Amino acid sequence: MRDVCIVGGGVSGLAASIFTARAGLDTLVIDGGESILARNASLENYPGFPDGVDARQLLELIRKQAHNAGATFELGHVTHVEPVDETDLEQGFVLETDGGEPLEARRVIAASWKDSEYLVPLDVGRTQRGTKYFVSTDDAGRTAVDGVYAAGRIADEPHQAIVAAGHGSKVGLAVIHDSEVNFYHDWVVPEGYFTERDIEVPPGCEEIDDEERRQRDQQARETILEAFSEPLDERPTMHPSVVDDE
Ligand SMILES: Cc1cc2nc3c(=O)[nH]c(=O)nc-3n(C[C@H](O)[C@H](O)[C@H](O)COP(=O)(O)OP(=O)(O)OC[C@H]3O[C@@H](n4cnc5c(N)ncnc54)[C@H](O)[C@@H]3O)c2cc1C
Repeated sequence: MRDVCIVGGGVSGLAASIFTARAGLDTLVIDGGESILARNASLENYPGFPDGVDARQLLELIRKQAHNAGATFELGHVTHVEPVDETDLEQGFVLETDGGEPLEARRVIAASWKDSEYLVPLDVGRTQRGTKYFVSTDDAGRTAVDGVYAAGRIADEPHQAIVAAGHGSKVGLAVIHDSEVNFYHDWVVPEGYFTERDIEVPPGCEEIDDEERRQRDQQARETILEAFSEPLDERPTMHPSVVDDE
């Protein structure tokens, strides 16, 4: 059984997976491959990109980061989620998809903005506004069902990519805390930052020396330079109700 299954590999689900995977939780992301962010024409309010960024390129980079962190991916749609044992939610959940075998996970994060039908058997507390459904959560993304969380727009967070990323991260941290992983912060700090104050490096933190810092910086710059060396040959996805005949 996996530690956590994240339904939806858009901004919030991927952000959650980066945190849970880096904390050592066995993390699977099941994604329908239709992040709403792919409809954006120029993303100009995501911090760190002074003149904006191609939203599809950003999604690709976040996906790569989740992969590097150790998350695994499956393409598909989750259609049904139910407890392994209704009398003991500690036993986790069974997830059915529209292809492939059912999967089991101890915890589930719903990060699938456009679809929450698969949660109906769990009675997590969905509310409808117009044609949209939202999932009620506490401050950290926990739903009324122990072990089930919601992240991003589906949790009625404001409709901006950076908010979805931040909320996904926060929900990932809630999963980590509820899983009782030995964890303090996910920080990488210079050698001696803790130890020269006679403090043990806290769990979830790492001290690296200058040589290691240079190597990581070099790798980081190469990745970014390669990603942005050419424009992506992908246009924004149009709203399904708009006919695009080109
Ligand atoms: C036209 C447009 C322009 C936008 N422009 C901006 C902008 O300029 N700046 C900004 O900050 N924000 C913008 N946004 C908003 C931003 O895209 C969203 O707020 C953000 O993507 C929400 O992230 P999310 O992770 O909650 O959902 P999403 O990014 O939509 O991710 C949800 C993922 O779940 C998957 N999924 C759904 N159902 C299932 C299922 N049953 N099983 C498995 N996977 C499933 C989907 O395929 C998708 O990949 C724009 C949105 C649109 C539509």
